[in-house]
Amino acid sequence: MEWPWNRKDPELAAAPEQKSAMVDAVDHLVNALPDPILILDSSGIVIKANANAEEMLEMMPVGLHLSQAIRAPAVLEAVTRAVSQGSSASVDYEVRGPLPRNFEVYVSPIMPAQPDSPAVLLVLKDLTREQQIERMRSDFVANASHELRTPLASLSGFIETLQGAARNDETAREKFLNLMRSQAERMKRLIDDLLSLSRIEMNVHLHPSAKVDLAQVARHVCDLLSSMAQEEKVTLQINLDSKLDVAGEWDELVQVVVNLVENAIKYSEPGKTVRVEGEASAGFVTLSVIDQGRGIAEEHIPRLTERFYRISVQESRSRGGTGLGLAIVKHILNRHRGRLLVTSKLGHGSQFTIRLPSI
Ligand code: ADP
Repeated sequence: MEWPWNRKDPELAAAPEQKSAMVDAVDHLVNALPDPILILDSSGIVIKANANAEEMLEMMPVGLHLSQAIRAPAVLEAVTRAVSQGSSASVDYEVRGPLPRNFEVYVSPIMPAQPDSPAVLLVLKDLTREQQIERMRSDFVANASHELRTPLASLSGFIETLQGAARNDETAREKFLNLMRSQAERMKRLIDDLLSLSRIEMNVHLHPSAKVDLAQVARHVCDLLSSMAQEEKVTLQINLDSKLDVAGEWDELVQVVVNLVENAIKYSEPGKTVRVEGEASAGFVTLSVIDQGRGIAEEHIPRLTERFYRISVQESRSRGGTGLGLAIVKHILNRHRGRLLVTSKLGHGSQFTIRLPSI
């Protein structure tokens, strides 16, 4: 890139006002660029920094040596090479601290006209978010594979036993087939939840517009889950305003309420009550699922909607959980411009409230 400062153009040299207009234009251009930009002279002094660079470095670096703004030997070496050998390079730069950030710094020489004119351009590309997403993606793949491999390993074990030791044992065969069925069902639940999550994620920016009465959704879900509640000896109580209209997709809202009521039943003891309460006020519809279970310690609450996050993996699995239910709830609510609020008191129970704009 040729900078106006470096032009040996006799016409420009003869027209200082034109030259200063060019310098202004380049100044504006550097300020308008979305990445942090620094320009150094050949001795490594910062002679230009755009607002993004000042914000990122949390200082005004102009007039300082680069080493006072960026304490990274690899970046400083790349600058030295740019000046002495005219070579460009991309180097990693990690900002440590309470909120660590990762950058890729592109260092490129600019042929200087005079000793104090621009000699090196630094473009800092913030990779923090990209790397976070990449880490989340690979964690997710690792978790999902692990979750699927566990029941698959049990299935293989049972098949081996049925082909070997239990080949002619009628009673053992029956027992193992039942165990195999429950492992296969677990894999099916997991795959169904994974597919649900990916379908909802694909549509997250499409806001549903059909009119859905959340009171009707809640009543329908309580009907669906009444036999589960009976089996677990949990009483389901409903207390709803007559109309709780929201813009939504029936099936997805049913899925949200099923996940919340199912959890409330699953994590309650026999003899307890689960209340489903809904009301419309001040432009919003709220639906709360309130249980008298053991409650959730405060430190877990912000993480409950992470995929595969469970307070006790063993307990969740023994109750047929996949660890994806609340992640699905969160994604569906995002699509509906809604929110999930969780409050809980250890030993007393939890309240999961969804809040959606009413129509
Ligand atoms: P799971 O399939 O394990 O139930 P969820 O995503 O639905 O997965 O919930 C995540 C975790 O949150 C559960 O494993 C459980 O530890 C906790 N949890 C959810 N709902 C409740 C509740 N009503 N009471 C106590 N703990 C709950």
